[in-house]
Order: sequence, then C-alpha cells, then structure tokens
Amino acid sequence: MSDYNDQKYYDENCIFCKIIKGDIPSSKVYEDDYVIAFNDIAPKAKVHLLVVPKPHVKDIMATDDFLMANVLEAIKSISKKLDIADKGFRVINNCGASAGQTVFHVHFHIMSGNLTDF
Ligand code: 5GP
Ligand code: ZN
Repeated sequence: MSDYNDQKYYDENCIFCKIIKGDIPSSKVYEDDYVIAFNDIAPKAKVHLLVVPKPHVKDIMATDDFLMANVLEAIKSISKKLDIADKGFRVINNCGASAGQTVFHVHFHIMSGNLTDF
C-alpha cells in the first residue's frame, strides 16, 4: 500500500483535491479514510454522484488494487444508503479526454433514475 500522504498525491490545481480538502464546498454523500462521494454539480440523472478516491491519481490506469477495493466498497455502501441498490444504478468511468474525461482526478459516476440512453 502506498503512502498516500505523500505530496505527489495532492494537486493544488485539481478541483477534486480542493473539494476533498474542504477548500471548495460540495454536497457530500459519503466519506471514509480513502474515498469521498458528492453530488455532481450538473446531474444527468435523478441520482448522480461522483465517487472519488482521495489521493490524486489522474485516471483509472493510475489506480491500484487497494484504492479500487475501497472505491468498490464505497459504491456498495452508498447504493444501500441512497436506496438505489434494488432500483438499479450505473457506474461510469471516463478514462482519457477522448472518452469524455474532463476532471483528471479519477472518479466514478453513480447514476440512477431517469437515465437517458447512450
Ligand atoms: P468526467 O467528464 O471527467 O467524467 O466527469 C466530471 C464531472 O465532474 C462532470 O459530471 C461535472 O459535472 C462534475 N464537476 C465538475 N466540476 C465540479 C465541481 O466543482 N463540483 C461538483 N460537485 N462536480 C463537478
Ligand atoms: Zn486531484
């Protein structure tokens, strides 16, 4: 397991790092030692939140098993907490600009309800 307190895991120009630090407000839904989740500022479904590992890693290719295990556990907890586990939900990750990634701090969209096709 990496030392996620290392400075290389924080990017002062990253909007999600600022949200994690509390310097930018967010509508927080979940938080543990390694993961935070907050509502997307521009929701594209009735429920649309972002699950974000706290260390600054730019995309899914830069993650490790430990972070991904924590993300997965967080997704399960959040889906129960928000009562969408039975209703069904999507988990989406955009990796790379050409795939639609606009914030280069890895994150996973959870979307449920009123989903449009794509
Ligand atoms: P991506 O396109 O990188 O997969 O997703 C980035 C998401 O972050 C978008 O859905 C966008 O609406 C959301 N987003 C960008 N800036 C902010 C912000 O400052 N606060 C919140 N809550 N969401 C943001
Ligand atoms: Zn970041």
